[in-house]
Amino acid sequence: MKHINIPIFIPHLGCPFTCVFCDQNRISSTQEIPGEMEVLRIVEKHLETIPSGSEVEIAFFGGNFTAVEKASQEIYLASVKRYLQDGRVQGIRISTRPDCIDVEILDFLRKRGVRTIELGVQSLADEVLKASWRGYQADDVFKACYLIKEYGFRLGIQLMIGLPGDKLELDMKTAEQVIALRPDMVRIYPTLVIAGTHLEKLYLKGEYTPLTLAEALQISLAAYLQFQKENIPVIRMGLQPGEELQREGCVVAGPFHPAFGEMVEQEAFKAQAQKLIEEFVIAHGQHSQLLLLVHPRDISKVTGQRRSNLNYLKKQFGLELIKVRGTENLVRDSVGVAANDASAPALLLSRREFLEEPSYVKKYQI
Ligand code: SF4
Repeated sequence: MKHINIPIFIPHLGCPFTCVFCDQNRISSTQEIPGEMEVLRIVEKHLETIPSGSEVEIAFFGGNFTAVEKASQEIYLASVKRYLQDGRVQGIRISTRPDCIDVEILDFLRKRGVRTIELGVQSLADEVLKASWRGYQADDVFKACYLIKEYGFRLGIQLMIGLPGDKLELDMKTAEQVIALRPDMVRIYPTLVIAGTHLEKLYLKGEYTPLTLAEALQISLAAYLQFQKENIPVIRMGLQPGEELQREGCVVAGPFHPAFGEMVEQEAFKAQAQKLIEEFVIAHGQHSQLLLLVHPRDISKVTGQRRSNLNYLKKQFGLELIKVRGTENLVRDSVGVAANDASAPALLLSRREFLEEPSYVKKYQI
């Protein structure tokens, strides 16, 4: 069943925290807090286009929902209750900070139809949390996650890579600890230097260096594959390229790309196709023309941006020609290979098989 979120952005004006990467002034000056009527309008508008049979959640994103005044939380949750009652919506989702969770809050949310809680964890390395002025420690995250699961909520974890004090080893350690928490979903966001933030000051003073796009892709790929191996869905990589981010001067520095998530997936397909062709060459000898077969919805992922994956593989294996064909028979995230004139794959490599490969383990598991 396809899952669809109806996003409602609740900017947390006057948030008492001061995370280095966040510009609250900009949020405050440009975002309006939606009133009850606006919330209903947004929900109705989305419901008009959602295919029947979808699993729908109304998602209050944007701030720390559980740190907003209780009366406002009550109003928001009560305003959408009718959709839960008439069955058009199956649940409510909120996002908040790990230190804004306790037993009383979870009781309150559960009674009002909240089903999924996404925590802005960002990192589980205390030094990174401290350097990013998050105001809590990894232990607070563990406590919040255990409580959320104990109360029967679905747990989402949002992570940031490339924060101050961060490095690949810490990101991979965080990924490992997150896997142990068994969340229902994960989001991965590369840190961007946004105008007006403390991080911008650090960057301008030369005290913070953002990840390059290539580094962010590499770290995200390693984490993404680890989560995939453990059957933990990664539901988003990279920030949504909304209007505000696209505004000139908003992103001062950092690995911003409007198709970041797609690029990470393309990297995964590139590595998988390379492994498969290596095996094909060993089993069937060198061919000058090859055909890759994937599920039709994976064609762009195996092809890469402007055919970058195909060009890479062509060069790597000294090929004259490499083509891609979509076939409904293949499951998603699988790649098949054959000589160019063949009608069926001579060899197949599923994502799971690829993730079990010792060479993959060596390359991506830290
Ligand atoms: S990122 Fe930090 S400062 Fe910004 S709204 Fe969230 S908690 Fe507040």
